[in-house]
Amino acid sequence: MRITSVTPLTATFAFERDPLSYCFVRIETDTGLVGYGEACDSYGCTFANVLATVIDDALAPLLNGEELDSVERLAERMRLFTRRRLGDQCIAAQARSAVEIALWDLAGKQVGRSVSGLIGRVRDSVAVYASSVFLEEGAAGWHLGLLQPLLDRGVGMVKVRIGPEWRIDLATLGELRALLDPAVQLMVDGSEIFTLPTALEVARRLADLGIMWFEEPLPQNERAGIEQLVQQSPVAIAYGEHLYGGLDALEVLTRRQATVLQPDASTCGGIAEARRMAASAAYFGARVVPHVCAGPVSLLANLHVAASTPIIRAIEYPYTFAASWEAFGPGLDLGPEAIVDGQLAVPDSPGLGILLDETAVAAHPYRTPGTRVAGSRGGLPDRFVGDR
Ligand SMILES: [Mg+2]
Repeated sequence: MRITSVTPLTATFAFERDPLSYCFVRIETDTGLVGYGEACDSYGCTFANVLATVIDDALAPLLNGEELDSVERLAERMRLFTRRRLGDQCIAAQARSAVEIALWDLAGKQVGRSVSGLIGRVRDSVAVYASSVFLEEGAAGWHLGLLQPLLDRGVGMVKVRIGPEWRIDLATLGELRALLDPAVQLMVDGSEIFTLPTALEVARRLADLGIMWFEEPLPQNERAGIEQLVQQSPVAIAYGEHLYGGLDALEVLTRRQATVLQPDASTCGGIAEARRMAASAAYFGARVVPHVCAGPVSLLANLHVAASTPIIRAIEYPYTFAASWEAFGPGLDLGPEAIVDGQLAVPDSPGLGILLDETAVAAHPYRTPGTRVAGSRGGLPDRFVGDR
């Protein structure tokens, strides 16, 4: 089976609260089989056209005409060729991720097996945690109402986001904690906005509320500060959605800069890379809970990672994006109504289990984000904040 074309497909879905952009990729082969992938920059794919250019100009020429004999050989070919020119992090890694995922989709389809089945499946369904919105968006009762359909379906883990008005948010969080069943685990995402002293103060308050982990409190490149935070924080500190591959993960783990690792197959370099990151974490006693925050292909890729990696027991579930999953992958059963006992079934059909609706993708043309900042209703500040 030879690769005949590699084509990026970009889109913007106009959610009411915040438009979200996507970068998919379609790989065609001489057998007629088609594979799909997707990239994520940690919140959809904001600059999808930039990634599309990387795929068109740098990655497609490396794959066109190649035999699909080994996904890892082709993934390594892409990485080694672009490493010195584009770097092996951020946009370059995200673009490689989309292509690598599409290669796995094809590898599965070629032999009539699911991607996780091909790698070695350890579970047929994966627990999801409800990845919810910013605390500033409503009162505790409003948050509970938003989460109720997922809680009713047995979801036992919930994550909310804390913002610049963190003192007010902490009060709301305390009220939400009191409203939730004590058995429900609650986590908090800091969206990289805090200084170290403020993050430490927030972490102590989170510990009092029994919060499971505090995610990305400091900007992800402030590794020295993060290291100090992990040492002093009474709650687990989670990082990983901005880590690009096994080497990044090893550095973070050996320096103890995270106690929960959150790789994303559509960000870090692909499915194999996410599994390598997870395997490394196991040696350090870190928990691994993959990041998911994009379209249906990205969700499926991470679902197959979880289904084939023993250490992974749960994945992120950004339920507010479900309308786009249904639009781009109709009939996939990825929405909240598909959750049973808090678990999402891993598709057993060949490849990832998706037939991307390219007509629907084309019907949602990509729009550049301008100065819009994805995140809360009011938009996140473009600099991190801290009172101390
Ligand atoms: Mg996050």
